[in-house]
Amino acid sequence: MVVFGGRSGEHEVSLASARAITAALRKGGRHEVVPVGITRSGRWVHSGDPMRELESNHELLPDGSTLEISGPPAKAGEKLPANLGSVDVVFPVLHGPYGEDGTIQGMLELAGVPYVGSGVLGSAVGMDKITMKKVFAHHGLPQVDWVGLTRREWKNEPEAQVRKIEAALGYPCFVKPANLGSSVGIGKAEDAEELRTALEAAAGFDRRIIVEKGVDAREIEVSVLGNEAPDVSVPGEIFLQADGFYDYEAKYVEGGMELGVPAKIPAETADEVRRVARTAFEAVDAAGMARVDFFLERGTDRLLLNEINTIPGFTPTSVYAELWAASGLPYEDLLERLIALALERHG
Ligand code: ADP
Ligand code: MG
Ligand code: MG
Repeated sequence: MVVFGGRSGEHEVSLASARAITAALRKGGRHEVVPVGITRSGRWVHSGDPMRELESNHELLPDGSTLEISGPPAKAGEKLPANLGSVDVVFPVLHGPYGEDGTIQGMLELAGVPYVGSGVLGSAVGMDKITMKKVFAHHGLPQVDWVGLTRREWKNEPEAQVRKIEAALGYPCFVKPANLGSSVGIGKAEDAEELRTALEAAAGFDRRIIVEKGVDAREIEVSVLGNEAPDVSVPGEIFLQADGFYDYEAKYVEGGMELGVPAKIPAETADEVRRVARTAFEAVDAAGMARVDFFLERGTDRLLLNEINTIPGFTPTSVYAELWAASGLPYEDLLERLIALALERHG
């Protein structure tokens, strides 16, 4: 069963990943795939053609946002697909909250169905950037300085928060909803006014907000695959085609970024990237797969761990798969490995 869509800002990304995964699994009749879509409002679609229904159930508004035009919101208790018990393994292809964060993983644990990727703990810790950073710090992994705050703290005492952030981090800084991905809701602030705007925006996405010291850095990413003692791919480097940071557009608009593989970094740095990636994977108790992302600071060559993504974008041209292809593992074989790892973990 391939589950896709979902109630997060990364709904579209999930559809693209799921289309590619489904096609590859079906190739040559290797697997029978049961598609299950989750609409933006949380309704599960498991009959008919769920992919087609999700693709056509929203329209693009002039301001670029989308409006769901078909189907009522989910009612409580309406969420479980009836055919869950009849599948061998579930591949949750859901990015962000309600999918990458341990929620569906908990449901699948309760249902006793094997699934691809991290369990409840690894998913939840990997999703929440504040908790993730605390766990990484405990393992002595190098990171940027950061400050965490809640929406309530921001609403109740905005100026005190701005002063606290300025004193701890200065400018530029990056403001992020703690639980999201694909750069949704992230803002870069160069001064107090931009900081207020970015905090207000992030507070619209999440109760929990993280602000980080901005670094001028190359971005290096690596793919991890396995359960215990996982394998790590060759590192790749992200090259942006436009000014600014690695935002949603750079990630998903054709030609927005280019991946350099292998990253042109010294062998010792590549070894350090792989070592830290493996430690990060184990630190959050990830399983199956994850993409671990780094900053390599310009000038100092300091390697900083940025984040772990437990359900990375998953088309054949997504960074996760590209790095494996460059490491000698083609897309279809990668999927077979993930299914085998799921069965090994839950069998
Ligand atoms: P997401 O989980 O949404 O991908 P990230 O924390 O990876 O969130 O941030 C997205 C992008 O924003 C990064 O890839 C990078 O380009 C930029 N960015 C984030 N934090 C910083 C930082 N502290 N310094 C410089 N750039 C940053
Ligand atoms: Mg992320
Ligand atoms: Mg990222």
